[in-house]
Amino acid sequence: MASESVYSIDAFLTQVGSYIHDSHTIEHIRSAYQYAKTHHEGQKRQSGEAYITHPLAVAFTLSEYKTDPTTLIAGLLHDVLEDTPATFQDIKDTFGEAVALLIEGVTKLGQYQYKGTLEDEEEKLKAQAANYQKMLLAMAKDIRVIVVKLADRLHNMRTLDFMEAAKQKRIAKETLDIYAPLAHRLGMYVMKAELEDTSFKYLEPSSYKTIAQMISDTRNERENDLTMMRTNLEYLLRENKFDYDVKGRVKNIYSVYKKMQSRDKEFEEIYDLLALRVVLPTIENCYSAIGVVHSKWTPIPNRFKDYIAMPKPNLYQSLHTSIIANGKIYEIQIRTQEMDDIAEYGIAAHWAYKENAQQPMTETTTQKLKWYSDLVQFTEESKSGEEVLDLLKEDIFNSNVYIFTPDGDIIDLPKGAKPLDFAFRIHTEVGLKSVGAIVNQKIVPLDYELRTGDIVKMKTSKQSFGPNDNWLNLVKTSNARSKIKNYLNKKRRDELVEIGKEDLQRELTKRKYTETFTDKEVAALFSKKGVHSLEDLYYEIGKNTIKPVNAANSLIGAEEYTEQDLINQINKQVDKPKKIDAEVIVEGLDNPSIKLANCCSPVPGDDIVGYVSKGVGIAVHRKACKNVQNFDKDRLIDVEWGNTLATSYNVNLKLMVSNRDNILAEIVNTITAAKGKVNQVLASTNARGEAIMKLKVGVTKKSELEVIIQNLNKVKDVYAIERPMK
Ligand code: MN
Repeated sequence: MASESVYSIDAFLTQVGSYIHDSHTIEHIRSAYQYAKTHHEGQKRQSGEAYITHPLAVAFTLSEYKTDPTTLIAGLLHDVLEDTPATFQDIKDTFGEAVALLIEGVTKLGQYQYKGTLEDEEEKLKAQAANYQKMLLAMAKDIRVIVVKLADRLHNMRTLDFMEAAKQKRIAKETLDIYAPLAHRLGMYVMKAELEDTSFKYLEPSSYKTIAQMISDTRNERENDLTMMRTNLEYLLRENKFDYDVKGRVKNIYSVYKKMQSRDKEFEEIYDLLALRVVLPTIENCYSAIGVVHSKWTPIPNRFKDYIAMPKPNLYQSLHTSIIANGKIYEIQIRTQEMDDIAEYGIAAHWAYKENAQQPMTETTTQKLKWYSDLVQFTEESKSGEEVLDLLKEDIFNSNVYIFTPDGDIIDLPKGAKPLDFAFRIHTEVGLKSVGAIVNQKIVPLDYELRTGDIVKMKTSKQSFGPNDNWLNLVKTSNARSKIKNYLNKKRRDELVEIGKEDLQRELTKRKYTETFTDKEVAALFSKKGVHSLEDLYYEIGKNTIKPVNAANSLIGAEEYTEQDLINQINKQVDKPKKIDAEVIVEGLDNPSIKLANCCSPVPGDDIVGYVSKGVGIAVHRKACKNVQNFDKDRLIDVEWGNTLATSYNVNLKLMVSNRDNILAEIVNTITAAKGKVNQVLASTNARGEAIMKLKVGVTKKSELEVIIQNLNKVKDVYAIERPMK
């Protein structure tokens, strides 16, 4: 973006002329410039330049967002009410009421004193509460007030060098605390990034310098990687006949800093510095392109995000994935042009002024931002400004209350939500460690019903006793409820394990048995009962599904055993560990060289057979494998699964689906939800809109795979699932 003083009225009007063609409107805008220039005559900016350079720069930014004429004029005039003799009435008579109200809104917004530097924590919270409420009110009346204010702040940040140092810090802090989050809330990414970076530069000059330096030091290497990836990606897209646009992506300095801080990472570990964006004509293209990308490069599990089907609250939409290529991790975003505009310019992109449009811009989009449309609706129903402020504290919204974190983030919760709902929404750990809640600087009981506008801070303690049954009556959201239930179940299990342990110990002491047992020994004896570890055994004993006396008998062998039983038992114990210590057991071989066949990819639980092949050792196939039927029968040998298993086995799955929006995401989610890992996806489609998806899925055993297949069968439009032999 351009910097101070390059703007001239002609350059501005040329920019405006790119989307407003009506010559009367253009002249009207020019006359607003003249009005501002005349009224600010003789005034100077701190930089020494004529004051008019500032409102002109603000209006220029607004024109970059293609805002409507009213907003542009308000941008040009935004300081005349406060700093010149111009009156509301005069502006109203000359430029209309809408302009006058916008300017009044912007002026009022600037009149409160931000208390971000106050030492007193309570005072600070109080001041912030008032600020946020004012912001909300101004926004509810006309969201364009905030857009003008953001453009105003952006230019002030760009020219902050001319301010004295103390003022720089105060303004930078206010920008980072209030305006950048607001821009984020409105989805205006470009605005937010610049506000953050300029604030950061003044607040933490040395960190800013260090990171900026690191980014530029590594630029060459990064650009080489990116260029190579980009070439490959473009080739792939061309080959698949996509009408694409590939862009590199610049990460803003402050977000790198925040990532390093919050995840305690080194600069080198911030992976999404290598990021590419693909812009495609349609949503269908986006989904098929992600299939193509995943078939070419290995995606990283759990990094695939479908924000097209599930947009973020600020309306952001895109597909995200991370892939590995040449040993590097690349983040790839795939979206349509419209989504890309919204990602960069936020709701301003929805509002982009269209000549001859029937509706004013505010009405066309407000419905889309749910939190905002609720706010507007509620404000429209009320009458005066003071009333609005009072009502804002009431529980007016039909379905939602809007709560502030101490940092000014807005959290929306269902009506009737309580502090613990808020706590679990922030973070599970915050919920579990909660000991109390502070709402608007007052300690409140945990059954307090939250109201819109409340600033909520949870009191947490490491010594907290954690949730109890009563907590289930203190929450409204299913999210908080399920987290509390999980915790209670786990706690109950822990208690039962403790009881079971004591019971078994007592039983063993009776028999003067002092040695302990390993998980493996327990598993060998009880795995048929679903017990795979010593802790599992304690739990079953605690629940009384296994009697302590029987458990002890099995573990150490009992007196009522016959001699033969005992011998068998001993033989078992001597033999078994040797045998089960392998992944696959081969009769008569201690340390067989084993390879799981790729063609049928067996997993523990499958019926398997070994095939002795030269150079390989024993290839393990599924008994059902087609290849086995053609093998030399003399070289087939009996094998079975042992106990030392790998943590994951790859299985090939072939799905026939009818190709619709979002189906890949649903399939991936279904598999992930059932604990499978999607390690590869290959998708191809035919002219009838059917798609064949070949997946490599990591599972630990056959039963897990069976659950996955069962669940995939329930996904709409999946009509065949195969586990191919090749
Ligand atoms: Mn200004």
